[in-house]
Amino acid sequence: MITTPVDGGVGASSSTEARDLIALEDRFGAHNYHPLDVVLTRAEGCWVWDLDGRRYLDCLAAYSAVNQGHNHPRIVQALVDQAQRLALTSRAFHNDQLGPFCQELAELTGFARVLPMNTGAEAVETALKAVRKWGYKVKGVPDGQAEIITFGGNFAGRTISIISFSDEPQYRDGFGPFTPGFKQLPYGDPQAVADAIGPNTVAVFMEPVQGEAGIVMPPPGTLQAIREICDDHDVLLIFDEIQSGLGRTGKLFAWQHEDARPDGMTLGKALSGGLYPVSAFVADEALMDVFHPGDHGSTFGGNPLGAATARAALRVLIEEGLVENAARMGERFRAGLAGFDFDSIAEIRQTGLWIGIQLHATVGGARRYCEALQQRGMLCKETHEHTIRVAPPLTIQAQQVDWAVEQLRDVFEQLG
Ligand SMILES: *Cc1c(COP(=O)(O)O)cnc(C)c1O
Repeated sequence: MITTPVDGGVGASSSTEARDLIALEDRFGAHNYHPLDVVLTRAEGCWVWDLDGRRYLDCLAAYSAVNQGHNHPRIVQALVDQAQRLALTSRAFHNDQLGPFCQELAELTGFARVLPMNTGAEAVETALKAVRKWGYKVKGVPDGQAEIITFGGNFAGRTISIISFSDEPQYRDGFGPFTPGFKQLPYGDPQAVADAIGPNTVAVFMEPVQGEAGIVMPPPGTLQAIREICDDHDVLLIFDEIQSGLGRTGKLFAWQHEDARPDGMTLGKALSGGLYPVSAFVADEALMDVFHPGDHGSTFGGNPLGAATARAALRVLIEEGLVENAARMGERFRAGLAGFDFDSIAEIRQTGLWIGIQLHATVGGARRYCEALQQRGMLCKETHEHTIRVAPPLTIQAQQVDWAVEQLRDVFEQLG
């Protein structure tokens, strides 16, 4: 189990092919990413293969977009069937997938209404527009004065309005002027929220667990405390569950760990099992019904191909017990990592199948650990330089968890 499983030829010519493809990306693509040097060509379940036939355990799962595992046959089938029948109508006409998708997502989440979009950032923009409009039309905030509370360390996408409340300098550098109307507070501090709320505050917008920040959880009770503060001040609470939701933390939604039901939430990533970009903002009627025809929209949002794919992805998540498996396998991961005692590790944070191994800054970055793991057949990606994020598909089995723990142990023994 220690060596990288190989089921194809490892030849100089295919390695040249990989290098050539990387060079093509570099030459003709924009340079806005810095991927590991691995060129993937196929996948199945928790596994991906590179051009040289090397197999890897995918411990990133496309940032949780493939919670259901790669190429899940039931989701692929739904996608193919729908693509052959009807892919796109625009919202100028009805289609026979949108209604059932909205109903199924509403029933699963317990929210009355669903507004489908495509990417996570669009779902977040939708939520921000909804709470602003609610502020003006329902709460009575003077025009142009609405304020939304956000938190340090957040990640919610890359649009100009979203980076306007980011505190990551690189995400903002060179992209101003920024959208006003956001106030930023320390993450996980309900008292700061209570102090910051003013008459024009319309919403608190928050990740219940911060994924990109490195699996950062607020102190226990924080979500519940913020829920109560919002109730007391007629302020909406919106959770961004795009990465934390749909099983990642061992609950369907991360807020369920504290039973702190929000007024709306954003979903994306695993909503389509990684086969098609589908996102959504879901909310109670009182909030969602601020939207009227023409207020907001998207050419592709709610298209039948995406809707059919998402319906299958949600069925797989529930019917195959992936949320429960995430809780069980997360516990197994936690137990496996509990014995880790390496000077390089500052902290290990874990909830469900979401693990952040934070290294001391003196170690010189998490990337070389990710590269060493790659050599051993395990794909991870560092987040924020010093944290190794481990987030495999929720279909992972005990044997693979044990193998991943073994690889991590070996790499820490090797690199210190
Ligand atoms: C990934 C992510 C987004 C943005 O999703 P995109 O599909 O990349 O636009 C928003 N919020 C959170 C919490 C995310 O993890």
